[in-house]
Amino acid sequence: MFKNLIAGEWREGPRVIRNINPSDTRDLVGEYAQADAAQAREAVAAAQQAFPAWSQSTPQQRFDILDAAGSEILARKAELGDLLAREEGKTLPEAIGEVGRAGAIFKFFAGEALRIGGDVIPSVRPGVGVEVTREALGIVGLITPWNFPIAIPAWKLAPALAYGNTVVLKPAELVPGSAWALADILQRAGLPPGVFNLVMGPGSQVGQVLLEDQRVAAISFTGSAATGGRVAAACAARLARFQLEMGGKNPMVVLDDADLGVAVNAALNSGFFSTGQRCTASSRLIVTNGIHDQFVAALAERMQALKVDDARKAGTDIGPVVDESQLAQDMEYIAIGEQEGARRIGGERIATNSAGAPGHYLRPALFTETTADMRINRDEIFGPVVSVMRAKDYEEALHLANDTPFGLSAGIATTSLKHATHFKRHSQAGMVMVNLPTAGVDYHVPFGGRKGSSYGPREQGRYAAEFYTTVKTAYTAA
Ligand code: ADP
Repeated sequence: MFKNLIAGEWREGPRVIRNINPSDTRDLVGEYAQADAAQAREAVAAAQQAFPAWSQSTPQQRFDILDAAGSEILARKAELGDLLAREEGKTLPEAIGEVGRAGAIFKFFAGEALRIGGDVIPSVRPGVGVEVTREALGIVGLITPWNFPIAIPAWKLAPALAYGNTVVLKPAELVPGSAWALADILQRAGLPPGVFNLVMGPGSQVGQVLLEDQRVAAISFTGSAATGGRVAAACAARLARFQLEMGGKNPMVVLDDADLGVAVNAALNSGFFSTGQRCTASSRLIVTNGIHDQFVAALAERMQALKVDDARKAGTDIGPVVDESQLAQDMEYIAIGEQEGARRIGGERIATNSAGAPGHYLRPALFTETTADMRINRDEIFGPVVSVMRAKDYEEALHLANDTPFGLSAGIATTSLKHATHFKRHSQAGMVMVNLPTAGVDYHVPFGGRKGSSYGPREQGRYAAEFYTTVKTAYTAA
């Protein structure tokens, strides 16, 4: 059994959960201890005890540990990628890529630990000096979702630790394996006891403790909009800092002048890869009339040729949906799309994979002739379900692209510099892609959105310091 890490010790919990492979639901990935509220509070106490020393540790100490963790993650990319594909269901190349990203993030923030700087500014008063410095916040609670089991914990953990905070991580119930591997790696990399604590368990108990415990200075959350709202309310009530990354309903505009191959590749990748289970997935393709029919025909052909199979089988393009309830939600939205009068291509449930193993398989679905008011164009589905809307010109396409409560990522396929430039400026999204998939981002630059997608400072890159540090202004009489 895999245990929780509290105060540097591996601890059993009152319950155990079974981590099941969505590609073959007979396959048990492992049994994982579940913490309860009392253990979550113990983890907070351990993080509190570890904070004074860790926040005063040298940048070299923090660099060494984060760099060593990054090296081990990269060296074990194939093995950790296999675990990730097995517990989450993304394909092996996608999973190995995600592990590589996690390793690179640790390396990046190892370097950032050495680069924490400040400002020395002349005072407006004579004989006074002013220094502006950054300090750690204290204990940071990290609550993560199932769709990026190692990259999201990594991109919260690495900056939290680099800037001298201590951490309690509560990973998603469905994917404890990758988070446990991270805890094991960090522990062996030499993190002092209590600096990083892992508490696996239900959000409503373990997560809730982190939200409500007055000792936790800040919460970084990635997950659904509904839970994000709860995080916001709980943190606001006790004036804790918080950062939310939630859903998306990301548009990709395809203009008449687009390179058809580029547009189809970008839509195929960002609509269906990783089974559509990315918050940056394109779920609304907004296509101008002149290219619409050609684009839909080409995309439908490529989509129907995608191999849906065991995530770890060579040649699989799309793995299974993560679990039973997500599959039910995807299928419900497929039914809703039909009721709303959209034309459906694909979207059939497949009971078993090519080896006959039972899993949560679903063929990718494309809805055409859809309109902006349909629920399939308004709600985040979080599956391999994409809809196409017609637009008469660029202006209407831009309007449709922005007509959503979300604002994470947005794309445009065009050969027009004028339209690409205008779209970059006027898209109401945090990340804009020109002739690229809306999903798939670099690890060293800010990640995040606007409107209902995100709240608080950006994650990743140097901007992560905005969340994980607090600024101090010190005045000294000369
Ligand atoms: P998803 O659709 O990704 O499962 P959720 O918002 O349900 O989205 O879950 C994201 C994370 O938030 C998970 O780690 C989950 O356990 C956690 N969570 C769920 N409910 C709560 C809660 N009431 N308080 C704190 N964390 C929660």
